[in-house]
Amino acid sequence: MSDSQPNDPSDSDSVHQDFVRQIVIDDNANGKWEGRVQTRFPPEPNGYLHIGHAKSICLNFGIAQEFGGQCNLRFDDTNPAKEDVEYVDSIKEDVRWLGFDWGEQEHYASDYFDQLYEWAVQLINKGKAYVDSQSLEEIRSHRGTSTEPGTESPFRDRAVEENLDLFASMKAGEFEDGAHVLRAKIDMASKHLIMRDPVMYRIRHETHHRTGDTWCLYPMYDFTHGQSDSIERVTHSICTLEFENHRPLYDWYLDALGIYHSEQTEFARLNLTYTVMSKRRLLELVEEGRVSGWDDPRMPTLSGLRRRGYTPEAIRNFCTEIGVTKFNSLTGMEVLENSLREDLNKRAERRMGVLRPLKVVIENYPDGEVEELEAVNNPGDESAGTRKVPFSKVLYIERDDFMEDPPKKFFRLSPGREVRLRYAYFITCTEVVKDEAGEVIELRCTYDPATRGGDSPDGRKVKATLHWVSAEHAYETEVRLYDHLLGREDPSDLADDEDWKDLLNPESLETLSGCQLEPSLKNAEPGSRYQFERLGYFCADAVDSQADGPVFNRSATLRDAWAKIRKQAENKPKPKGKKKKKK
Ligand code: ATP
Ligand code: MG
Repeated sequence: MSDSQPNDPSDSDSVHQDFVRQIVIDDNANGKWEGRVQTRFPPEPNGYLHIGHAKSICLNFGIAQEFGGQCNLRFDDTNPAKEDVEYVDSIKEDVRWLGFDWGEQEHYASDYFDQLYEWAVQLINKGKAYVDSQSLEEIRSHRGTSTEPGTESPFRDRAVEENLDLFASMKAGEFEDGAHVLRAKIDMASKHLIMRDPVMYRIRHETHHRTGDTWCLYPMYDFTHGQSDSIERVTHSICTLEFENHRPLYDWYLDALGIYHSEQTEFARLNLTYTVMSKRRLLELVEEGRVSGWDDPRMPTLSGLRRRGYTPEAIRNFCTEIGVTKFNSLTGMEVLENSLREDLNKRAERRMGVLRPLKVVIENYPDGEVEELEAVNNPGDESAGTRKVPFSKVLYIERDDFMEDPPKKFFRLSPGREVRLRYAYFITCTEVVKDEAGEVIELRCTYDPATRGGDSPDGRKVKATLHWVSAEHAYETEVRLYDHLLGREDPSDLADDEDWKDLLNPESLETLSGCQLEPSLKNAEPGSRYQFERLGYFCADAVDSQADGPVFNRSATLRDAWAKIRKQAENKPKPKGKKKKKK
């Protein structure tokens, strides 16, 4: 199974007209950018990308593709304390894996540091920026509130010459961190708090992962982002809603400098149930060892989802399905899981594997005989062909598929009951073997040779079909089952005395050893994905698999157990009268 590229942009199905795309269409119709479409995806390299970033990537790269434009990859690397090349590399890998290509257009805000500095000097010269010698703490406390204006700094009216001089000394490393900052001179009474003389530059004696020790003066996000867009001649600067109140400042800097003016448009970020989506929090999980790393299969990171077994197609389809709006909301994790099921159902080959084995001895099956039975690789795709599965006298079935004392609706194996073994025979349980503690350790069964392939010539019906593995041939390995990272649906729903980490689900990982899998799975390539019949979708772990065979991660169950539980709960209060009417 290979991962394909995103849809051909000429395929009209791949063009979805959300409000951002509508803006592009309208701009093109009005000749606003001379028909040019230039977007960018601007991650800060201070962590690994998560599924929320995928939404932004699909939007920015998607629009560029659909409208014959270009999307740049731009690292927004203005905070040396938190950034690292490890993150740069992982971001590039993840964007490529998702299926997008930035060509030659790989940029770094740090490449613009000289230009930004020059622009800052220009603003000082125009009387639009000044060096403030208050501490950041003082600046913050004088900012005012939404109802009260801020207080002007005593340094606000410094002469241009003095500002230029101080700013040059800041750059030359003559001051300690925090001694001065450069601020824009806008309006301390502005109704937009962000416009109350925002900080443009701060001193940080810190080594940058690209510029080394060249700088000890670093620009703030707001003084960097819009100008970077401008330098790259971005047409549509698409960002998340929390930047809406930064827009007046974005516009102010570009206007004050009189340079090319990109247009910022905001959309709602993705929030998912049962997980966290902030790099800061994800970093905490990694640093505190609560997960095995950024690529732990429980993480909502792209590297975690990839290791879990997610395909780029599933993630892109998910992003298409959730769409793009102006309203913040919480998307159910099951929507993401369903995209994976839909994709893998079409593409993943079927295999049999027993996670919690129970031994079955077929008493009337000849000792030492092995039959190679034919099994279908994908019922939905004939071209996937068939494979041979060995059958012999001693088998494993799933422990859950047997009950000694079955309740009414349990149709699987129990004493005296006949069931079908997939692709094999009907078997009947004749005896239950227990250990001293009374635990069932083995079943004795008989098989009907006439039912080879799984059907009875006399038309006899059975109510259950079980998966199985031949004991002698099985590949024994470890399988990891995953549940939600958090135990609460809405992670923002925190009581005053609760910490978000209290919500971590202690049962998010269950490691099963001694699982018995169909022999062909021993040769599964790391990263390859299968449907284990009746159990879900599984992926050979790309990190922990050894040369002598893979371990598997469950990517998703077959059906959404959660949705089912919810549905049942919803159905309960239905009035009884309704049912009667149907009769
Ligand atoms: P986080 O809040 O998770 O730490 P961030 O916004 O600080 O993320 P950036 O590296 O600045 O991370 O993000 C790069 C781009 O991805 C930005 O344009 C940002 O708006 C977008 N983005 C980040 N999180 C989401 C999300 N949950 N949904 C959609 N877009 C997102
Ligand atoms: Mg950010």
